[in-house]
Parts: sequence; C-alpha cells; structure tokens
Amino acid sequence: MKKILNYINGQLMEPVSGDYLDNFDPSTGKVYSLCPDSDERDVELATKAALQAFASWSVMAPEKRSRIMLRIAELIEKKLDVLAEAESIDQGKPKWLAKNGEIPRAISNIRFFGTAIEHFASEAHPMPGHAINYTLRTPIGVVGCISPWNLPLYLFTWKIAPALASGNCVVAKPSEITPMTAYLLAEICIEAGLPKGVLNIVHGLGPKVGSAITVHKQIKAISFTGGTKTGAEIARTAAPMFKKLSLELGGKNPNIIFADCDFDKMLNETLRSSFLNQGEICLCGSRIFIERSIYTRFKEAFVEKVKARTIGDPLLDSTLVGAIASKMHFEKVMSYIELAKQEGGTVLCGGYTVKPEGRCSEGWFIAPTVIEGLSFDCRTNQEEIFGPVVTITPFDTEEEVLAFANSTEYGLAATLWTENLTRAHRIAAEVKSGIVWINCWLLRDLRTPFGGVKNSGVGREGGWEAMRFFTEPKNICIKL
Ligand code: NAD
Repeated sequence: MKKILNYINGQLMEPVSGDYLDNFDPSTGKVYSLCPDSDERDVELATKAALQAFASWSVMAPEKRSRIMLRIAELIEKKLDVLAEAESIDQGKPKWLAKNGEIPRAISNIRFFGTAIEHFASEAHPMPGHAINYTLRTPIGVVGCISPWNLPLYLFTWKIAPALASGNCVVAKPSEITPMTAYLLAEICIEAGLPKGVLNIVHGLGPKVGSAITVHKQIKAISFTGGTKTGAEIARTAAPMFKKLSLELGGKNPNIIFADCDFDKMLNETLRSSFLNQGEICLCGSRIFIERSIYTRFKEAFVEKVKARTIGDPLLDSTLVGAIASKMHFEKVMSYIELAKQEGGTVLCGGYTVKPEGRCSEGWFIAPTVIEGLSFDCRTNQEEIFGPVVTITPFDTEEEVLAFANSTEYGLAATLWTENLTRAHRIAAEVKSGIVWINCWLLRDLRTPFGGVKNSGVGREGGWEAMRFFTEPKNICIKL
C-alpha cells in the first residue's frame, strides 16, 4: 500500500513514531494509502530545518525565489493529470473538476505570488521639512500553514505561496483526510530544487500535529483555514503567545434571489453555487432566499435540474456529484438532513444516500438535497452543514431578506441576483459578509481581499493582504 511521507529538511521521511493513519478513497470507502501519524517530534524537526533555511531564503534575491516558485508551478502543470486524479481519489470530487478548476488554481496561486514578490513594495511617509519615514517589510521567520480537506492543493498553495514568496520558511500541515496532493507537491519541490528546509510538510492529526505547530515558540505566525471551532482553539492558544493569526473559517452563505433577476442565468449558477464539489466549498450558498413572486417557478425549475444531476464515480467525466470526503462528514451531513425533517422541513429532492453500481458501491454518496418549509432561525438554517444540502425560503421585502441573511453567526460570502443596480449596491453594502457576488458566483480575482466577518474569520488572504500578513512592517524615521 502506498505510504505518504513527511517532507522535512528537503527529504521525504517516515514519521518519528513510525505510525500511519489509514487514508480512504471516499468513492469506494476503502483504505488506499497510508498517511504519517506524526507528532510534536516531527514538528520539532521541521521547525529546526525551517529555522536553518530561513537564514538564506529570507535574504535571497526576490527574483531568485520567484524563479524557483515558477519552476514548481511549471512542474505541477506538467503533472496536471496525475495530480487531478490523485485529488479526485483522495477527496471524492469529480476528476474533471480537479483538472479544470482546482489544480490549475494551485498553479495560479504559486505563479501569482511567485511573481508578486517581484512587484511588492513598501510605503514612505515624508514629513516635509522635518523627516522621512519609510516602512521596511521583512519576512516574519518560520510560519505555520494549516489547511482543510475540501480543496486540498488549492487551499494549501493559497497559503504556502505568499508565505514562501515573501521570504518565510514554512511548517505546513495538510488535512489528514486528504494528504495525497501535498505529498506529490513535496516530490515536485525536490525536483524543482527548492532549497532544503524552506518548506516542510508534516502530515497527521489536527490535535497532534496542528496543535504542535500552534504552540511552537519558534513558529511566529499561523495561517489557518478550517472550521470555526478549530479556529477558536488555535486562537485561544496562539493569541497569548502574540502570534500573528489569519483565520479563514466556516460559513453559512445566503443566496438572495430577486424576482427581477435574469432567471436562466441565476438558475444555472445557483445549481453550481449549491452543489459544486458536493457543496463542500466554504463559499457555496446553502441558504437560498427567493422573492415570493417567483418562489414556485424557482422551486419547480430548480428541483427538476437538481434531480437530473449525475451522482457517482468521481473518475467519470459524466459525474457531476462525487463522494463526500470522509465517513465522519458523510454521517454529519446525513444527520443534518434528519434534523431538518425534525424541524419541520420538507425534502423536495435528495435526502438519501446513493450506492452507485460497480467499484463505488461502498462509497459515501449523498443525493443533492433541497429542503423547504424551515424558519430562517432554525438550526438547519443557522449551522454549517458543508455538504450537498440547501434550503429554500421565500421572502417579501428587502428588509426581511437582509434580516434572514444576516441572522447567522457567520459572514463569509453572499450572492445576490437582481438586474436592479441600485438595489444590488444597497444590499451588497448591508449584507454582513467578507465577499459579495452580484449576478455571479465564485468569480475570483486573486488580488482581491478574501475572508470573512463574524465567526467566519479574522484577517484577509489574497493579493497584497497576504504579502502583508506574511511580512513584519518596521517604520524607520530619519530626521532631515
Ligand atoms: P477542521 O477545522 O476540522 O480542520 C482543518 C485543519 O485543521 C486540518 O488540517 C486539521 O487536521 C487541523 N486541525 C484540527 N484540529 C486542530 C487543532 N486542535 N489545532 C490545529 N490544527 C487542527 O476543518 P475541516 O473539516 O478540515 O474543513 C472544513 C471547514 O473548513 C468548514 O468549516 C469550512 O467552511 C472551512 N473552510 C473555510 C474556508 C475559508 O476560506 N473560510 C475554506 C475552506 C474550508
């Protein structure tokens, strides 16, 4: 059985414990590889290596760092097919989605930040006749990057790329549920000639490896993407150590549809924003609010299209809905469907598990599910489900839908559908979220600030925000 290895000090190595965790293919429900069950000893080795590497990586000319990163991106591109298949097997997502969306995005992340470093500049603040201030932005040192399982390589590279580009050395932990593409990336980094110790990847469980990274005194900043509960735990530990923190957490995003929208465009995009990647994208719109005058029309058209979605083997091009990433998550999503029924919801389609014929008959599949008849403030509409489950709710006025939309503890992303530009701006300003899409969804420009408000996180990723997070500003004042 294939053994995934840690990547420490430029080498692929077994965990110190010698222990491994089973790594499952969610489409078959079977173990297909082994993931290191690392602990604080591996984190210690990784941190030592990173500290040593920092002495030269942090002062390397930006264009030289950039060249190495671009080489890594090029090698990922060469192995696009291998990586897409690996991601699909590890995570359960359709392979076509990994090949057309996520792995190319991982390449873009590395190219984007690998070139950004050549353009990154700092500020000067002249005090005419008195002095001049300038800001030196220097790398922080060793930083920790912890990522989740839903978009494994995409989110892993979204963190490590700006960290490395700005001259830090990294101790990174991918999710133990989807470790494979980070391992393949380690092989690529070796091939690309990334100096040893600059990037270290320690695999294993969150409470062991993740918390060892969080508490390590020499790791000066933590960039984390994952659940709100885990984020709170990381903050509890890291805040008194005065570590810099970037926390990208959960969501319960509203999708607000007004009667004056372009109906067909909205319908197709709402299918995507509800069920792409089995609804396992933090930006998916899981609470759909529809203006009452088009509620029935929407419901009928939407449910018909949802029922037609092909569920099954993620390796087939025809599959639109793949497997749920883990058994635990599969059970969690199913328990929320039960909860929705107990809360008085009516399941309009889906709501059941699927057993595809053939090799995927033991996999973890859930039919895309649409539920109506729930109040905006019930648990189903307040808690993050993070699966192929959406609720639909009619509304009458802008005030009402804003109250619905803003009622949760989360504030990551919102989507608005209207052809009325004035209303679009008005609602966009009022909705409490870090990102608002108007008449589109998941249209991403890597330069824009990315992140959430309320319990969806602290700080922003993307563009200069990320480069600033991973550097320490120092003001230098010279008297004239
Ligand atoms: P999770 O919080 O369980 O795990 C995320 C990572 O943290 C994993 O690598 C895990 O091993 C690690 N971890 C777990 N416990 C830890 C601890 N005590 N200390 C340090 N690290 C620990 O989240 P998940 O289930 O992997 O991912 C799903 C969640 O991620 C959802 O809530 C989703 O909304 C969120 N998410 C947010 C964004 C965003 O950009 N805001 C993007 C993707 C996913």
